[in-house]
Amino acid sequence: MSYPLPPHLERSVRISWHITSWCNYSCDYCPVLVFHKRSKNGDKRNHAFDHYSAEQWLEAFETKFDEQDILLRITGGEPFLDRENFRKILLGVLAMPQWSIQIDTNGSWDPEYFREVPKDKLGLNIAFHPHMVSFDAFYKRINQIRDHGFHIGMLNFVLAPENLEEFGKRLERVERDGFFVNLSPMNPTGTYLSRSQRSEEEIALIEKYNMPVDVKYKVVRPKIKDKLCYHPAISYYMLFDGRIQVHCLDDTYQNLFTDGPPPRPREAIGCRYNECIACTEMYRAIAEEPLYERPLSLYHRGEYIEEVKAFREQQRRRERLSKLPIIGSFLKAPPSMREQLAAPVRKPDLLPVEALKPALPSAPIFGALDSTAPVQAYARDRIYLAGWAASSRFGAPLEQVRLTLNGDELGRIENFYPRPDVSVSYQRQELEQSGWRTMVWVPALSLGQYSIEVEGVAPDGTRGSLGVIPLEIVG
Ligand code: SF4
Ligand code: SF4
Repeated sequence: MSYPLPPHLERSVRISWHITSWCNYSCDYCPVLVFHKRSKNGDKRNHAFDHYSAEQWLEAFETKFDEQDILLRITGGEPFLDRENFRKILLGVLAMPQWSIQIDTNGSWDPEYFREVPKDKLGLNIAFHPHMVSFDAFYKRINQIRDHGFHIGMLNFVLAPENLEEFGKRLERVERDGFFVNLSPMNPTGTYLSRSQRSEEEIALIEKYNMPVDVKYKVVRPKIKDKLCYHPAISYYMLFDGRIQVHCLDDTYQNLFTDGPPPRPREAIGCRYNECIACTEMYRAIAEEPLYERPLSLYHRGEYIEEVKAFREQQRRRERLSKLPIIGSFLKAPPSMREQLAAPVRKPDLLPVEALKPALPSAPIFGALDSTAPVQAYARDRIYLAGWAASSRFGAPLEQVRLTLNGDELGRIENFYPRPDVSVSYQRQELEQSGWRTMVWVPALSLGQYSIEVEGVAPDGTRGSLGVIPLEIVG
């Protein structure tokens, strides 16, 4: 069966623009390989205005897109940091009648500088990061932003383990003050790249504040390959250096400035991924999703919020009714997806002796690094490291993998992900949960060569080296 693009979206497009990987914060759960400032040596970094001027970007937007309804979604990093160029972009784009903008930001900027920016076609999603800013400072700033006339669509609270307690304390007040709070399930990213399990408290919050369709794609993450989806027909993904692609279609990019945007399919097409990348507007574009019945949309400011508000109100009504003596007993429990969550991870125990299986290494801790090639980075950048590790007495998962640099801890991995290749090669299921991967922040080091030591810790406290990763600070 084919699903042509609905007529109301034939001349509409959403452009997700990763404008920068520059950020003033260092959140452990950040999915981006963030850097902190422009390079001193003039190298082009992952930042839109290192590649083209604001004026060039504006000219490209004006001349390369002829749709009638264009939603520019701007994400980073922190888009507001290069404030001079960013203000030019906002003023220029918002002066074009077909364009509107939504921005993901941490809210750390001064709204006074953006006083002249028209606000009617601009929405902000502001994320609170309790380990980077105190609640009082954050709240003062977002109230200033709102007082300057900005539409704050949502306050985003990322449900990372280190945030749960802080959110519990703040939720009620923030909602009472009229902000819409989005409790966003944390994806396995950043320091948590290997994390596949969630705590009971986290799941309870996710179910209470998120619609079933969001729980399904953000938490359960069902197999999606070949399902028909409209998202590529209405969306581009664009990078800081001008590369642009039809979102989700394939891996090819072309340059917006020299080649223009590529043609989009005019119908729903089969998804090529195993799981949906899981942004709210993306899986809402799946053609036959039983948990979502609203018409396809670009998701302009406020649409998602209206949906979630209506859902939460429905939940509250159900809760009230469930307490009534007779009616309550007839109410069906809302659908829960807990039984579809991944099975609990094996608890390490002494490995059985099985003579017919390949022998395990004699060292108490064994494993490998995915790459031992030198990593080049700028001071205070973020780097990606990965490998696998197990104990020859307990199997996997280990208690920890520790990364140290000059004797100081750089990172610690306590969640592991399945590496079937390892369990198959040793013919031991008990080694499956041995994979680790993480993104760590490099300290403010001077130029030169360094070594990152990788060490595994077994459940009985035994430690063993897993190797060394050379690090070169280049700027
Ligand atoms: S999560 Fe957002 S605020 Fe935190 S470091 Fe990443 S881009 Fe910056
Ligand atoms: S990844 Fe998600 S949004 Fe993209 S095509 Fe697949 S189902 Fe659609």
